[in-house]
Amino acid sequence: MKVINDNSCGWINDLIPRHNIKSLVKKKVECDWLIVGAGYTGLSAARKLGQLYPNEKVILVDAQSAGEGASGRNSGYLVDTTLNDGFTSNKEIENYKKKTDIYALGINCVKNFIKEYQVDCDWNECGKYFASSKPKDKKILNNFSATLSNLGFEHNLLEEKELSNRLGTSFYNIALYTKGGILLHPGKLVRSMINALPNSVELYENSSLLSWSSTKDYISCDFNNGKITTKKIIFATNGFLKSLGIKENYNFPITLTASITRQLTDEEFNTMGQPKEWGVLPVRPMGATIRMTKDKRILIRNTAEVHDPLNMPEKILKKRSKIQMIGIKKRFPYLSDDIIQSTWSGIVSRTRNSSQIFEKIKENIFVAGCYNGSGIGVGTLFGEQIAIKASGENSTEIETIEKRRRPTLLPSEPFLNFGIKTRLLYERLRAKSEI
Ligand SMILES: Cc1cc2nc3c(=O)[nH]c(=O)nc-3n(C[C@H](O)[C@H](O)[C@H](O)COP(=O)(O)OP(=O)(O)OC[C@H]3O[C@@H](n4cnc5c(N)ncnc54)[C@H](O)[C@@H]3O)c2cc1C
Repeated sequence: MKVINDNSCGWINDLIPRHNIKSLVKKKVECDWLIVGAGYTGLSAARKLGQLYPNEKVILVDAQSAGEGASGRNSGYLVDTTLNDGFTSNKEIENYKKKTDIYALGINCVKNFIKEYQVDCDWNECGKYFASSKPKDKKILNNFSATLSNLGFEHNLLEEKELSNRLGTSFYNIALYTKGGILLHPGKLVRSMINALPNSVELYENSSLLSWSSTKDYISCDFNNGKITTKKIIFATNGFLKSLGIKENYNFPITLTASITRQLTDEEFNTMGQPKEWGVLPVRPMGATIRMTKDKRILIRNTAEVHDPLNMPEKILKKRSKIQMIGIKKRFPYLSDDIIQSTWSGIVSRTRNSSQIFEKIKENIFVAGCYNGSGIGVGTLFGEQIAIKASGENSTEIETIEKRRRPTLLPSEPFLNFGIKTRLLYERLRAKSEI
């Protein structure tokens, strides 16, 4: 198994290239703790373990460069709420509350991290918009508004004129603005987590776990370039959990692609009315996530598909870029056709009922992942907390996490693949106007 990322991610390319990247070279290494996957989850778990056990051997490995999976490639929305159509019954509101309790802990966790390590990641507490071009989506937003009111989330509905003034486009007809929620630079955030790793943590990159097996006392892991035997292991490979046989009947990978434009010229920005930084999430699930960044670039993500998670060929990426250009032109028709500067893909993990995985799967074997597209805060939180759980300790955060609904069993193949593809197609058609 070889994970190959494209090297065209706009966020990652904003960063200064890293040096001193080490790979596993020794034939055989032993350690107390092994963490597989160096995204938000794995980096947070490693940081926590390094703090808890400065005298134990903690190893963190990644198949590619650390932080260059989904964690460095996402849209940068640190969310407090997500739109779930029609949470009306008490039971559903209760479940939604459990979900938002976890989001709140996630936001806190990232906030504490950036405060402690003095991180600059373009943090902006500007809230976010759930927006639609379709007047009839007002019904969905009214339902959502009732749920948010019920749970005390500050929000308001905005229509045509006020909305277009704020966003600089008259594409949208209606939006629900939530005050909570942060926009940030995901590449800068994950890079700061790499920099914050305690000295005692050994990081090996370009080292892909191929297979693993366990006995009562240790876990044996075979990599493309060596072997590690560990007393305890944490799997933090998110979209690649299934390919490693972890909770494989409960999660599946989805490939997302995103594009970012060059910086807008003053003239272009003036035509828009010089909007402040904003982030829009779609009302219909397959619509576009679109952001005006702090430095006047437009980011768009409007595809989600079942694809080989290991690699997306350039030819296919170019096609996705064209779909993203259509999305940009719909909102800003006067921008030139070549304004997109980079397009990239990334892998997320989904479960059937949008619940996350956080558990001990066997003696000494732990897993955290499956954030269903909202992993900046929850991944950071779950990483720290799975390290605590693996240490045999408890925390109030773990108690909150454990209250969530558990992921439900997926249908077996070929029904699963057929089901996902049909659902994505249905959602795509439903959101056709919103890409
Ligand atoms: C385009 C896009 C937009 C998104 N937008 C948002 C957003 O706005 N807000 C939000 O909260 N979330 C968003 N997400 C989701 C978010 O990025 C993820 O939930 C989050 O990054 C998960 O973090 P992680 O550390 O668990 O996984 P990852 O960042 O995916 O890290 C897992 C790591 O495991 C490594 N790995 C995999 N297999 C192996 C192996 N066999 N051996 C060794 N290492 C391995 C990978 O190389 C990878 O680096 C988006 C994702 C994408 C792709």
